[in-house]
Amino acid sequence: MKKLTTLFASIALGVSLLTSGAYAQDKGTVGISMPTKTSTRWISDGETMEKLFKDAGYTPDLQFADDDIPNQLAQIENMVTKGAKVLVIGAIDGTTLSDILQKAADAGVKVIAYDRLIRDSGNVSYYATFDNFQVGVLQATSLVDGLKANFGDTKPWNVELFGGSPDDNNAFFFYDGAMSVLQPLIDKGDIVVKSGQQGMDQVGTLRWDGAVAQARMENLLSSTYTDAKVHGVLSPYDGLSIGILSALKGVGYGSGDMKIPVVTGQDAELPSVKSILAGEQYSSVFKDTRELAKVTVGMVEAIMGGKEPEVNDTKTYDNGVKVVPSYLLKPVAVDKSNVRDLMVSSGYYTADQIDK
Ligand code: BGC
Repeated sequence: MKKLTTLFASIALGVSLLTSGAYAQDKGTVGISMPTKTSTRWISDGETMEKLFKDAGYTPDLQFADDDIPNQLAQIENMVTKGAKVLVIGAIDGTTLSDILQKAADAGVKVIAYDRLIRDSGNVSYYATFDNFQVGVLQATSLVDGLKANFGDTKPWNVELFGGSPDDNNAFFFYDGAMSVLQPLIDKGDIVVKSGQQGMDQVGTLRWDGAVAQARMENLLSSTYTDAKVHGVLSPYDGLSIGILSALKGVGYGSGDMKIPVVTGQDAELPSVKSILAGEQYSSVFKDTRELAKVTVGMVEAIMGGKEPEVNDTKTYDNGVKVVPSYLLKPVAVDKSNVRDLMVSSGYYTADQIDK
């Protein structure tokens, strides 16, 4: 009887291990190459994918490249050598990966461009991202809303423009989306870019570096705004917005009769969410990176199962060699009126994290 009970117990254990996936067949290694840890979004992108891939039976190999191109190339090369079946890559510089992706293709490894398009390579199977042009449209629309609300009776509005990293394809989409809203207002004379600096070649911020943006804003303030006030700053990313706000506060904006200019952002990073609630940064754009991770894992599952992943855009993302079939998620504008509710109700942050 005792033997029988032990037998049943071990059968039950076996069944539960099988169904829990502990004995599930390993579906192979997936290399996840993320650009940096300096921005929390990339940590969360990487860690969410790591977990989802594990749950789906894969062995994730997650690496962060510290915004260093040779480092990213070496990490990807290593993933290929170790036998990864698929690579998910958030590129630092989207133009530097052609050689390593050729090696990956020769080894039969499929590649998904994650959030940032990989350029100049035919060896990119799919692209998972947000509607990047729309991100720019949301940023500029909120900038104009803020200018109307805070500086309604002061026209023309003095606005300065910041772009993202010129080696990141997204930066051009953000800028072009924003300019689709701002350029008509510049042409009409409602907005003036007093420094005259326009175009990604003049306003780009290499490696999305907040310190670089802060230094440029400080220069603009001392060169162009000694007798005039800034009313708004187009900033494409929260990390830049925080630097820009520091420069502005450094010369007295936000105190006395110097109203804080309207500063936009992207990613709804925690310091920026707090800044928005404190009435400093005006807005951000929330992109739920958990959803992007989910879409990407789904793409890998489809590829590995010999199926076509779902895409919803086959026209926009020409990488110089091919139009990469893409899945675009929707970005959402956030400002003081909705940011707390949205971030908490979506579970992206806890109320505690925001209020502390
Ligand atoms: C991403 C943005 C991010 C920026 C800086 C872009 O490629 O799409 O979400 O703000 O990189 O990390």
